[in-house]
Amino acid sequence: MYRIRLFAVRHARGFEWIYTRFEAVMVALDPVFSRLGYNRVERPVAVVERALKGLLFDCRMCGQCVLSSTGMSCPMNCPKQLRNGPCGGVRDGGFCEVRPAMRCVWVEGWDGASRMRGGDRIREVLPPVDRSLEGSSAWLRASREKATALRAARDAARTSMAEAFAEARDIEPASAPLAEEPSSAVNRGDQP
Ligand code: SF4
Repeated sequence: MYRIRLFAVRHARGFEWIYTRFEAVMVALDPVFSRLGYNRVERPVAVVERALKGLLFDCRMCGQCVLSSTGMSCPMNCPKQLRNGPCGGVRDGGFCEVRPAMRCVWVEGWDGASRMRGGDRIREVLPPVDRSLEGSSAWLRASREKATALRAARDAARTSMAEAFAEARDIEPASAPLAEEPSSAVNRGDQP
């Protein structure tokens, strides 16, 4: 699948576009996943994720996907599994020092990132791999975290609005002053 991996990097912009939309769908499905139980959907989603990303990116199912920060080049394919590379041993032509027939995944990553809208994220330092997440679905984890953050932001906005209204009630007059009635609207008893 090495050729497909290189294809994914060459089309990193397109994959970025697809993933952004896909993630929005996954976030929108949060109420459904919550109702079914994230534990129950974990396995089937992970099976699909493994098959699809395995084909496209040689994914190793690390459970904390960083493809959108690495130009769509999976860093787990680096023989040293460097999360912030390259290592410094890159050969002439951008080939890996451990596997000379393979292009360095980080050289590929920088190439892919240069094609992406959010390519600058490759400059951010990534945290070390959490091995306890291996085999789990990164799709579910990322979308669940995003949905939780969105819910928290919505709740905070509601709370601050409720607080603002309470303050407004404290300072509002007991009754609103009545506007003066136009003379044409005054009901005179002597008129039919
Ligand atoms: S970063 Fe992890 S989840 Fe993403 S493609 Fe690589 S191994 Fe798979």
